[in-house]
Amino acid sequence: MHFETRAIHEGQEPDPATGAITTPIYQTSTYVQEAVGVHKGYDYARVGNPTRTALQECIASLEGAAHGRAFSSGLGAATTLMHLISPDDHVVAVNDVYGGIYRMFTQVYEPKGYRFTFLGPEEISTGLADHLDERTRLVWLETPTNPALNIVDIAAASEVAHGVGALVVVDNTFATPYLQQPLALGADVALHSTTKYLGGHSDVIGGFVATNDEEVAGQLAFLQKSLGAVPGPFDCWLILRGVKTLAVRMDRHCSNAVAVAAFLEGHPRVEQVLYPGLETHPGHDIATRQMRAFGGMISFLLEDEQEAVDLVARTRIWKLAESLGGVESLIEHPARMTHASTADAPFAVPPALIRLSVGIESADDLIADLETALAG
Ligand SMILES: *Cc1c(COP(=O)(O)O)cnc(C)c1O
Repeated sequence: MHFETRAIHEGQEPDPATGAITTPIYQTSTYVQEAVGVHKGYDYARVGNPTRTALQECIASLEGAAHGRAFSSGLGAATTLMHLISPDDHVVAVNDVYGGIYRMFTQVYEPKGYRFTFLGPEEISTGLADHLDERTRLVWLETPTNPALNIVDIAAASEVAHGVGALVVVDNTFATPYLQQPLALGADVALHSTTKYLGGHSDVIGGFVATNDEEVAGQLAFLQKSLGAVPGPFDCWLILRGVKTLAVRMDRHCSNAVAVAAFLEGHPRVEQVLYPGLETHPGHDIATRQMRAFGGMISFLLEDEQEAVDLVARTRIWKLAESLGGVESLIEHPARMTHASTADAPFAVPPALIRLSVGIESADDLIADLETALAG
């Protein structure tokens, strides 16, 4: 079955008790057993919940994965993955990872003795071998990156990482499985903040991990129940509902982003537009190979920080807020907002950078609003 059909039906048979077409919210903490150990597959809701099972089967299928695990947040998913490795182990990560992941790596795990090497997207795509050692257990990729929209070659990096037995994790939050399939490109694990496009409506926090590696899947099942960063049933239901429309939403996010990027490129006050769909983007060729379309995120540079800070407060339809991937368009200033935690890093976000999460409103209205704000 095609992606769009699986998004609506996978893991979501009509409810066996009532025929309800929509997967119920199984708002329960425990399950009654007929006799000791005789039950219908569920014993305690941290370990399992039917609404969560539906979500896990659905998103795993969309990622082309045999196994999927849902978590309470994207960072909850990342924390759980970090328990696959131990202090002294080495992690190579793309240097402009999501700010919260960077903070976790450098302020939570590095002080405990985990070792990190942060590399630029070019270096990961073409020179990764020089940075691996026998203790390299994880290669942590994000593509497109946040907020620079850099592109990493997933297939090339995976091949090199596998040479030393490292697992390749791809944070697929920006692309979604509709636009990019990391496992098919050779990665071992696809990670999501389902808070973003998969949920799609800015009303829930969630995370997800998908894999075809049986050993990793077994460890994740154990870690999910043992660490306990699990999502509640209503949150699972919201994400499941969001995923049903992922394909149509992403088509619109992408076409709107192409229109907005073209407008910004032609505007005299805009110094540079960062969008992988533009031929001038350094990652354009790789993105064309590994993505179906270029996504709904755009960053652009104005002349200086003050201009950027002023502009983000002047738009009307574009709301000034952190986060991304919802139906509504958002604008933000990464250096002072989402990426303030990377301010001291050598790859700190340029202060004149503005990030857009292009929603699915009318592209004409979105462009008109930016035009007014840029004139102001
Ligand atoms: C938001 C985000 C995360 C963290 O997810 P939460 O759901 O906020 O915990 C991780 N990676 C990327 C790329 C993100 O955008």
